[in-house]
Amino acid sequence: MKIGGLQKLTLIDYPGRLAATIFLCGCNFHCPWCYSSELVLPEKIKNQPKISEKEFFKFLKERKKLLDGLVLCGGEPSINKKLPAFIKKIKKLGYSVKLDTNGSNPKMLKKLIDEKLIDYVAMDIKAPKEKYNKSTGVKVNLKKIQKSIDILKKGEVDYEFRSTIVPSFHTKEDIIEMAKWIRGAKRYYLQNFRPEKTIDPKFEKIKPYPQEYLLEIQKAISPFFEVCQVR
Ligand code: SF4
Repeated sequence: MKIGGLQKLTLIDYPGRLAATIFLCGCNFHCPWCYSSELVLPEKIKNQPKISEKEFFKFLKERKKLLDGLVLCGGEPSINKKLPAFIKKIKKLGYSVKLDTNGSNPKMLKKLIDEKLIDYVAMDIKAPKEKYNKSTGVKVNLKKIQKSIDILKKGEVDYEFRSTIVPSFHTKEDIIEMAKWIRGAKRYYLQNFRPEKTIDPKFEKIKPYPQEYLLEIQKAISPFFEVCQVR
């Protein structure tokens, strides 16, 4: 596993848990407003300082009494074939595991759920179906995204869907369409875009939507979900 980063403590990324976040290198998408180019672009991954698995597990052992959760983030963690074996080692230490995923690998998602290796999943909904390729910079197999949505909606593992809302790309109608697509889900979060360093630099100049605007849309789509909030 190529570990490109470790956040030693997060109070917000894993609901209800004190957690650390591990950032795995590599992604099969190329979202233009992605904040993590160093984990996505091969030429940047090469130069990204890596943390060895040995170092990582030493950290986990030392923090066992302080932390109870571990967030697996990327990049896209599910592209790693060795992910199940890697998580098994984390679970052995007593940690709850949250997986952040773009939903492109339902087979891996199902395996991780069936083997009880993950306790919470946050899956991105990038765009309404017809804008998915544009939002990810690659040709996406929507059947796989749909399969991941269906797997999570079964509720065998706790989960949320979330969308980063980018002005100039997502319209109000797009957000409503995404919400209709996953309606009936347990949780859906709208995340306001932050103009940080992005894969396509033109997004760095884009101003986020006013919070009130997203709250207005959230109100409209809330009936579709048990929980729907703006982050
Ligand atoms: S936003 Fe997520 S899915 Fe998209 S390129 Fe970045 S890491 Fe990959």
